[in-house]
Amino acid sequence: MGQTVSCSGDYDGAIFDAVQYGETEHFMSLMKAHPSRWGITTPFIRSSLLHIAAANGHLEIVSILLDRAVDPNLLNSRRQTPLMLAAMRGELSAVDLLLERGANILMFDSVNGWTPLHFAAYYGHLSCLQLILSAAASCNDISVSWGFSRFVNARDQKGKTPLHLASRKRHPDCVHLLLENGALVSASTGGYGVPGSTPLHLAAQGGSVNCIRELLAWGADRNKKDEAGRIPYVVALNYRQGACLGLLDPSSAEPLVWPSPLKFINELQQDAKFLLEQALMAANKEREKTPSRGTNSNNPSLSQSGIAVDDNDSELGDNETCGICFEKACTIEVQDCGHQMCAQCTLILCCHNKPNPTNTHPTAPTPVCPFCRSDISRLVVAKLKSSKDSEQSGIISEASLSPRKSRRSWSSIGGLHSGRIAADMNWVDKTSAA
Ligand SMILES: [Zn+2]
Ligand SMILES: [Zn+2]
Repeated sequence: MGQTVSCSGDYDGAIFDAVQYGETEHFMSLMKAHPSRWGITTPFIRSSLLHIAAANGHLEIVSILLDRAVDPNLLNSRRQTPLMLAAMRGELSAVDLLLERGANILMFDSVNGWTPLHFAAYYGHLSCLQLILSAAASCNDISVSWGFSRFVNARDQKGKTPLHLASRKRHPDCVHLLLENGALVSASTGGYGVPGSTPLHLAAQGGSVNCIRELLAWGADRNKKDEAGRIPYVVALNYRQGACLGLLDPSSAEPLVWPSPLKFINELQQDAKFLLEQALMAANKEREKTPSRGTNSNNPSLSQSGIAVDDNDSELGDNETCGICFEKACTIEVQDCGHQMCAQCTLILCCHNKPNPTNTHPTAPTPVCPFCRSDISRLVVAKLKSSKDSEQSGIISEASLSPRKSRRSWSSIGGLHSGRIAADMNWVDKTSAA
């Protein structure tokens, strides 16, 4: 609206105020008095009433506007939709409502070329990020025209994916969620095969140790160079992020990575998965403390490297000691034989070298239990041996406090599909080779 002159400008200001502060009744009475003003926009950025209502999370007004057939994908002068503004401000209910009412998630603004997913990732709104990812997963347009993975890895005008932004802005929970949803850990801002910054470079710049841990656990390469020829370690040095240097030093102990056979297993039951993730992070934190071993060994066995894992875990409580490492409590059980081991040894069982993305051979032989060599049909969380449960391992007690943990007991946890574990897994060979 160019002609916000004289008296209509005053009305418009009052209308925008009512929308911004969520004064629904006042808003409706104003609109009754000025029915020609439904399409007004703000003077500079040309945001509509829907933009303002969505960005401030006023659902009632958002609903009123959408019920009047206002287009949910209206653009302001920056080509931003109401959904982008709601995602930017972390207005979860508004994001939800807009998605329900047909807001398009595949739009790019003209400032940075960001999608709504970029906005949620940059500002660290985990729940909004989750909602948008769920919408993308069930969106027919995306699956047909773009593909979910391409959406998750959409690049902005500077080549940055949502994972780059979350890494740069120090949001490890968003980094984790994006990686779980197929974000490419080694994406380069330069494009495929062209030097540029990886998410690890940007995490080094931002200085978040937890983001760096997440990225390394997903196989981020510490030796990859950006367009200026710098590895992430050098970037951290340049930005004086001293706390990150130990993790990024290529000569320090190689971090354990989330085993590629498990990487895309969404079927892996949440509780078991959480336990394994905690074990991975705990193991890597311990490894950070050890001096450089110059190792690029593929053998991450902690017992062999002499590292005691997580002090809490040495209190074994009522769980039996793992028969592989003889250090930690058994928290994972193999079905159907019922043999138990610790979460860390389970990870190692599925772990080899750096993850090999092509290692998804469909005819993978069924993995076998390291104790009895019988086929593993699934992995479940181990049952406690007795009812006295006050002294479980640190991992379990930590997990049980987590909001992610379901209300159910640790028994009856669903598992892992048998064919998904590494094709060439062979516990005996690996241990003897090491
Ligand atoms: Zn063990
Ligand atoms: Zn067994």
